[in-house]
Amino acid sequence: ATPMSVMVGVGKAAEAGVLIRNGEALQSASTITTMILDKTGTITEGAPKVTDVLVANKLTREEVLMFAASIEAGSEHPLAMAIVESAKEQGIEPKKVTGFASIAGQGVEAKLDDSVLLFGNEKLMAKRGINIEAFIDKAQAFAEEAKTPMYFAVNNELAAVIAVADPIKSDSIEAIKRLQNSGIRVVMLTGDNRLTAKAIAEKVGISEYVAEVLPEDKAKKVVELQSDGEIVGMTGDGINDAPALAQANVGFAIGTGTDVAIESADITLMRGSLHGLADAIAVSKATLSNIR
Ligand code: ADP
Ligand code: MG
Repeated sequence: ATPMSVMVGVGKAAEAGVLIRNGEALQSASTITTMILDKTGTITEGAPKVTDVLVANKLTREEVLMFAASIEAGSEHPLAMAIVESAKEQGIEPKKVTGFASIAGQGVEAKLDDSVLLFGNEKLMAKRGINIEAFIDKAQAFAEEAKTPMYFAVNNELAAVIAVADPIKSDSIEAIKRLQNSGIRVVMLTGDNRLTAKAIAEKVGISEYVAEVLPEDKAKKVVELQSDGEIVGMTGDGINDAPALAQANVGFAIGTGTDVAIESADITLMRGSLHGLADAIAVSKATLSNIR
């Protein structure tokens, strides 16, 4: 395309709230064959809320929320925000923990007084040899309702399951349909558990999804598709998504997402809506056809 037509295209896209960093991205957008969508914060609002707290008889609900909020105070994960917020709403004060560590894509750990606290997914519990049998059926039922269950252990013993729900953005279903209708293969990628991923994917009409992806493996999935001959678009909002955004043929960041994601992407969807994807591709097609 001529520099003039690219400038016009970039301007048109900007009117639709789509910020295009470079002319090359504008031209590549129309060639995308597969679009990868991150789940949390991309398809969903990324503002999960606590819906259920199930406790083993050792601790009270309040104690569990106090412990959970105390560890999560050190985390910037959307799940952590949900826990901290829920405790606050109920007037529960978090306490100061020591030895806080976050295990990417799995959870968090810390010590409070003499208690060792561990909070996260099934994988994390398995890794630490914690028996989750007592709650696994309940946790799976939550996941089938599209909620994310998190296990909480104190001193290596399961103490609770906390479930959170993250609503799907009101226009995600429509926006995904637009991509599919234009012949693009849509794949969802998430660190969340299989059952939750399946429930969300079904709700938004995506048949292909990969769940329980560790942060470092998101970019690998992009490479894999590229070696199959796909021209890959990647859309994400998190620090986790940054390597995949950089690896993709065209990276799209959610404007309300993290700075790292925005810096790693070619295009930013300022309105946070996935409609920006089909809008960008339409502008790209128009730009290229103008000069042919
Ligand atoms: P996503 O791709 O959905 O943003 P992540 O890779 O960040 O997911 O996390 C994957 C899973 O690891 C979460 O669904 C959750 O079960 C667990 N996890 C990650 N961070 C935390 C945390 N701060 N507290 C509890 N669980 C966590
Ligand atoms: Mg995300």
